[in-house]
Amino acid sequence: MLSVKETESIILNLVQPIKDTEIVDLDTVSDRILATPVTSKLNFPYWDNSAMDGYAVKFADVQSCNQENPAILEVVEEIPAGYQPQKEIQPGQAARIFTGAMLPKGSDTIVIQENSQREGNLVKIFSPPQTPGEFVRKQGSFYLHGNPLLMPGIALNAADIAVLATAQCTQITVFRRPRVAIFSTGDELITPEQTLQPGQIVDSNQYALAAFVAQNGGIPIKMGIIPDDKEALKSTISQAINSADLVLSTGGVSVGDYDYVEEILAELGGEIHVKSVAIKPGKPLTVANFNNFHNSCLYFGIPGNPVSALVSCWRFVQSALKKMSGFLGNCLPDFVEGITLTELRSGGKLETYFWGNVTLKDGKYEFSKAAGGQNSGNLINLAQTNSLAVLPVGKTVIEPGEKVMLRKLY
Ligand code: AMP
Ligand code: MG
Repeated sequence: MLSVKETESIILNLVQPIKDTEIVDLDTVSDRILATPVTSKLNFPYWDNSAMDGYAVKFADVQSCNQENPAILEVVEEIPAGYQPQKEIQPGQAARIFTGAMLPKGSDTIVIQENSQREGNLVKIFSPPQTPGEFVRKQGSFYLHGNPLLMPGIALNAADIAVLATAQCTQITVFRRPRVAIFSTGDELITPEQTLQPGQIVDSNQYALAAFVAQNGGIPIKMGIIPDDKEALKSTISQAINSADLVLSTGGVSVGDYDYVEEILAELGGEIHVKSVAIKPGKPLTVANFNNFHNSCLYFGIPGNPVSALVSCWRFVQSALKKMSGFLGNCLPDFVEGITLTELRSGGKLETYFWGNVTLKDGKYEFSKAAGGQNSGNLINLAQTNSLAVLPVGKTVIEPGEKVMLRKLY
């Protein structure tokens, strides 16, 4: 049995980031992973412009003015934003200017309107700017054309998208999303539309995993419910590994008589790297990879219990999906320190994950375990939680008020 850390590093080493790219519109690029560097032929700001409403002046004309001896300048032009100045400022002259407007030639400084008084075509300036160039956004001061603007491997967020728009990049090269095949195994499973017969269970995993995959940048491909039948399973697994980058199957990986997944993976030429992990819930996790000449595929055989399935996804699949997407930042899950308000108890042999809610109180994260029992089959109290708390191997209890490592999920 592997430790959680060993499993995590085995999985990340197996992941091959997707190299294929596609071009998408600026409108639909949110959260996509940039595949090529973005540079611009433009400078930012595009040209010297004013950061305030006021007057564009020559610093030399106003540097020694004061309340008693204001500088008196002739206003030769009015420059709203979007207008190209027509005149060059001469000594003793100024232009009325507004935020974002282009500086006229000959001016080098903005005097804010609060420090001025307009009288016809003259303006009186009562206090000098602190420095030459005050309130001027210099051309190229934020970015000089030709330099890298955005680097590959980032997940494009709102600020990045603003930069793309500013640089007039409307068609963006991103990595294609990982295709993730998802299916559920088990003779007992029915779809949410079917009528429940005694002994049956509605397949919730396929829906939960599809939502999880979509939220993490993958394309979920739902393949349905596969009975505990070797031939049916083999055919589905074979189809999945040949069409997807990642396969998530749930069920059939325990030691029961009808648990065939591992056996079939080996028969199909998969290399099995993980058979079970010292984690609770989610111990019977199977991880295999397939490499043939035209594609590589990573297979997660996930235990069927609904809580185990999601905890396995949060703990192991999420980082794999992130790395597979071409993301170059940290792919590992973030844990933060907090305190637990409820007792966390386990056997000490498995790294145990408790689900519950974290709130921030007086600058400290506080965790409360979900009420109603931490049973890996109980998907009801997993809903409306936002975090996992970890009890490490070798520890059997964390008492209320003690420190605990937490993973915020939402
Ligand atoms: P297994 O991992 O196949 O031994 O399944 C463990 C438990 O999880 C059994 O109680 C199953 O009925 C339940 N289970 C398996 N697959 C699903 C599923 N897709 N949705 C909901 N429960 C499931
Ligand atoms: Mg089963």
